[in-house]
Amino acid sequence: MSNPHQNAITQLETVAAVLRQSYEDKESFDAAIDQLKTPDRVIEGKLRIRMDDGKVKTFQAYRSQHNNAVGPYKGGIRFHQNVTKEEVMALSTWMTWKCSVTGIPYGGGKGGVIVDPKKLSQGELQRLSRAYALFVAPHIGPWTDIPAPDVNTDGQIMAWMVDEYETAAKKRYKTLVENPIATFTGKPLLLGGSKGRTEATGLGGFYVFENLAKKMKLKKGATIAVQGFGNVGYWFAYFANKAGYKVVALSDSRGGIYSAAGLDPEKVLAHKEAGGTVGSYKGKQITNAELLELDVDVLVPAALENVLTKENAGKVKAQLVLEMANGPTTPEADEILAKKGITVIPDVLANAGGVTVSYFEWVQNLQGYYWEKELVLERLKGLMDEATDRMWQLKNDTKVTSRVATYMSAVKKVVDTMLLRGNEE
Ligand code: NAD
Repeated sequence: MSNPHQNAITQLETVAAVLRQSYEDKESFDAAIDQLKTPDRVIEGKLRIRMDDGKVKTFQAYRSQHNNAVGPYKGGIRFHQNVTKEEVMALSTWMTWKCSVTGIPYGGGKGGVIVDPKKLSQGELQRLSRAYALFVAPHIGPWTDIPAPDVNTDGQIMAWMVDEYETAAKKRYKTLVENPIATFTGKPLLLGGSKGRTEATGLGGFYVFENLAKKMKLKKGATIAVQGFGNVGYWFAYFANKAGYKVVALSDSRGGIYSAAGLDPEKVLAHKEAGGTVGSYKGKQITNAELLELDVDVLVPAALENVLTKENAGKVKAQLVLEMANGPTTPEADEILAKKGITVIPDVLANAGGVTVSYFEWVQNLQGYYWEKELVLERLKGLMDEATDRMWQLKNDTKVTSRVATYMSAVKKVVDTMLLRGNEE
């Protein structure tokens, strides 16, 4: 398995090589790029948790703060057995680009704990979440670093963390804890969450898709295959189906389903909620590998990283790949898809809807004034449309891929902000 942080560095170097030509002061540009290759700071430590059987267990925890030139570090906290320091560092780097792409005033951060949360009781999960909040408390705050949910963390976990940050952290560190509600996003509505956050990532991706469909002259009725039927995959499929596109394939971890006539995501969800699996819904059963190679107009990987590889990229038939998952395409696959003329919209643009509504949540928390859902979604559409238009314009002007164009505008904005601040002692 390739080192994700090395991938993030390689991506940055590729884009920097193109951008460099337009900078007069190459020395300062190079220094900024050098700084962006590694996070500003990685905080690591051990969380000691009392388990239900009375024994104490230790879990390794990280918080990577990549860059805050544009604004406070921002990014989720992942609870997963495969978390590594390199992964957290890479994810924090991608958050810097993701926030830059949509123009929200944040830098990038990410947190992680090496744990399989499925093996924890609710009580153990709560104690682990509180311990993590206490561990990062001296380094976070509404103007410094704003965590959020990521893989295996949710609104309930954010609620525990807000509470811990507000109470125990204040006692332990004897510091003034600033606005705990505005220090975490992805919170439940009752505790300062934003309306529209649940569907934000899938809907944001749909706004990107709809905009591109016009630019690429895709017709209503264009066929779509979606891998992954969780929060992101479901909402993307839901909005695409509602708008008249034909969702012909869906899948979850246990397999998928194909129907040339089209699938109604709401009905598939009802079937799943009644105890079924996506693969046992009526239609032709397919594997996750087959889904990626279907003869469809649009392919939407919305589950895992590294699913499009050098082994299967040559068999992709879609003309548009919308990366709703983080990192679904390996660099080798990316090259193959580019050679085939397939448009690949990178994750940092396609799935930026979630962090964008997180930003709206933070704004509402700071204002203490809450917006109606219509306003949240209208503003989400505005930012996603602008980001997509910007990427498309740059792609056409410079004849690069959508990924390179997206990264070019994201990296340029961060570098220019760093240069504006001046980066010398
Ligand atoms: P989720 O846990 O709600 O859903 C994941 C889905 O993927 C489930 O349907 C699961 O069954 C399926 N899956 C798991 N293993 C699979 C496999 N081997 N093959 C096919 N499907 C498999 O997660 P989510 O929040 O929907 O996130 C999905 C992706 O989107 C992740 O890469 C995540 O990092 C990214 N993402 C999520 C958000 C967000 O706001 N939720 C924001 C940005 C990016």
